[in-house]
Amino acid sequence: MPEIRTVLVVGAGTMGNGIAHVAAQCGYTVRLVDVSADRLSVALQTIESNLARQAKKGAIADSDIPNILARITQTTDLSAAARDADIAIEAASENFDVKRSIFETLDNAAPEHCILASNTSSISITAIAATTARADRVIGMHFFNPVPVMKLCEIVRGQSTSDQTYATTFALAQALGKTPVTVQDYPGFVSNRILMPMINEAIYCLMEGVASAEDIDTVMKLGMNHPMGPLQLADFIGLDVCLAIMEVLHEGLGDDKYRPCPLLRRMVAAGLLGRKTGRGFYSY
Ligand code: NAD
Repeated sequence: MPEIRTVLVVGAGTMGNGIAHVAAQCGYTVRLVDVSADRLSVALQTIESNLARQAKKGAIADSDIPNILARITQTTDLSAAARDADIAIEAASENFDVKRSIFETLDNAAPEHCILASNTSSISITAIAATTARADRVIGMHFFNPVPVMKLCEIVRGQSTSDQTYATTFALAQALGKTPVTVQDYPGFVSNRILMPMINEAIYCLMEGVASAEDIDTVMKLGMNHPMGPLQLADFIGLDVCLAIMEVLHEGLGDDKYRPCPLLRRMVAAGLLGRKTGRGFYSY
């Protein structure tokens, strides 16, 4: 199995800074790339403050922080950063054209052995792989937010992902302290295939007047032991993101049981996207 030493993280947003944080903390050399220099400096500040919080809780030593930070370098030059990468983990915006352009660049610039992974929540790994000339070395690594805290990583095998790519990526997820699960490349993988229809059904319950938002969430918290009700969770994820994932399930699986709830569409059209806009099913 090729040894992974240098991890390239593409996209320094919510997920990218978390992935860079964890990889550096686990001893990997990290190159963090974004198109925006501002996003890069915000990401570094976020990593620093999250490390400080970990140190306060005693999870890491204060003296580890400078070494962890020293393992991360940042740049806006993707081709240059890819030159010595053993794996690239793409966590850029959830848009196929953005990902296609990144994977084309990576395919041209990264060494032959470099694995190209995507953290996409809903785009087909097989379709991303087809934009490269190394589909056997393309795979999904689906982390969860916040990455330093959440243990799960779905390892998504595309149509052409090789056994070696899969084994190397699975072992990397374990080395990053995650619990990897193996998932085949079908819409929504496992996580969103189960979570989003549940959220969508909760929105139908609200639309049909079965119960209030608070009561729907209380049923799922107290009756099913969920830490957060589905409508509150939808507000946290973003209603636009929920709608986009339901559209992927509906289109990709071709079954009307994945039809996005009309109330979800209406709230997105009204700009009520949840916590990030201050209002969704609840006010923030
Ligand atoms: P985000 O909007 O916070 O960050 C995306 C970053 O990508 C931005 O900083 C943007 O400047 C950068 N970017 C855009 N185009 C780029 C390019 N060509 N090259 C380099 N950087 C570029 O998004 P996010 O929430 O971190 O999501 C990133 C990916 O992770 C998406 O595919 C998303 O579906 C997936 N994901 C998100 C979550 C979540 O809870 N937020 C969970 C799992 C997976």
